[in-house]
Amino acid sequence: MTQDLYPVGEAPPLGIVPERMHACTVRRERFGPPKDSLKIEVVPVPEVGDDEVLVYVMAAGVNYNNVWASMGVPIDVIAQHQKAGLGTDFHIGGSDASGIVYKVGKNVAYPRVGDEVVIHCGMWDAHCPHVQAGGDPMYSPSFHIWGYESNWGAFAQFTKVQPHQCLPRPRHLSWEASAAYMLVGATAYRMLHGFAPNTVKQGDVVLVWGAAGGLGSMALQICRSVGAIPVAVVSSDDKFEHCMRLGAKGCINRSDFDHWGMLPHWTDKEGFDRWLAGARRFGKAIWDIVGEKRSPAIVFEHPGESTIPTSLFTCDTGGMVIICAGTTGYNATIDLRYLWMRQKRFQGAHFANDEQAAGINALVSAGKVDPCLSRTFSFAEIPMAHQLMFENQHPHGNMAVLVGAPAMGMGAKPDEGSQDTPAGSEAASAATQQIAELA
Ligand code: NAP
Repeated sequence: MTQDLYPVGEAPPLGIVPERMHACTVRRERFGPPKDSLKIEVVPVPEVGDDEVLVYVMAAGVNYNNVWASMGVPIDVIAQHQKAGLGTDFHIGGSDASGIVYKVGKNVAYPRVGDEVVIHCGMWDAHCPHVQAGGDPMYSPSFHIWGYESNWGAFAQFTKVQPHQCLPRPRHLSWEASAAYMLVGATAYRMLHGFAPNTVKQGDVVLVWGAAGGLGSMALQICRSVGAIPVAVVSSDDKFEHCMRLGAKGCINRSDFDHWGMLPHWTDKEGFDRWLAGARRFGKAIWDIVGEKRSPAIVFEHPGESTIPTSLFTCDTGGMVIICAGTTGYNATIDLRYLWMRQKRFQGAHFANDEQAAGINALVSAGKVDPCLSRTFSFAEIPMAHQLMFENQHPHGNMAVLVGAPAMGMGAKPDEGSQDTPAGSEAASAATQQIAELA
């Protein structure tokens, strides 16, 4: 007989879908720091339409967008769901997962029930005229991020997705490592490969901000896969080893500089000169690592307000600053003289299309990109994992959460492809300490 609800970690028989499930939700009245706003509750399992897929989640990846969702900043995701007529007053976040397909709609040819998949977070309306005309779905007005701009994300026993979001799981990885890389990996892949002619090439110098973080760890490895020369920026020397292991030519500690933040007004000569001296010193640090006066062909950006003036200044003539976030703020200030005289490109990027998601999946499946799984949390620890990220206290690389998969040592498959790195393990111990303090 079908049970109405299964405990977390106990899989229903393949293809049997219970009425209800455990999920980690955000509700509007709790908007705030993740440790307060994320709570586990029981909700209905979503209905699956003719063009949809229901996946039993084995593991989920932790990304910054669920920190934003939990705070209701910069958008109120629940208000968005209601506006879109989803009819739910809660949000289940989580935009990365690995799992097993349990049910497919009648129009779905791939995947099939029983397939082991990883899920990418790009959703769009296949009937949108732009998509039908062969345009990049990333520019479709219907594009949205699963588990952020849609409900029914990865932090639940079941998730509902579109078929094209499912890709074969790299079989050499554990469930949790499989869930750790897709969102940041595909985003980094599009940033570095998606904007011709400024695509990463052999011998290119690439400046990577937050290089020990989720996006940065992927960017370093994608650069290495084509023989580019990535220069890593981090905030402490203890992250150097992690970055060097992933292919960085050298590392810059941003704490050695103090010219961050919005650009002083160009009429403020003293302030501007002080900023310029800092930016020049930073540029020289890049040249010292590269071994010649060669500036970055691509600057891989996401901190935003605090670093954009320097990114634009240090970017090479004809080069590109590519940005997918503004974690430190949204007021990007640039000195237009450098932009036009040196003909630089300032380009926005957002997640990835199916080809780019498949591109990073192929690199991971071939063992050329390690998911950099730093730490695996239990389902109950989802709020704490996000709190660590919110406080920039999380370990290097990418974190994951066990949902249906057993913990290592309890029948889980050994993870051959993605062990904790020495640096990651050290940071993970620090994170354990943090969790104890936060709890
Ligand atoms: P992450 O793992 O937390 O890494 C971000 C890194 O940024 C941190 O490791 C930190 O490294 C660095 N950082 C923090 N404050 C900084 C500052 N003031 N100046 C320079 N660097 C700073 O996060 P992530 O997963 O890489 O994501 C980064 C951002 O990108 C988030 O806002 C996320 O929402 C966004 N994102 C957007 C997309 C998209 O499709 N648009 C996709 C993925 C992520 P150090 O302290 O070592 O410098």
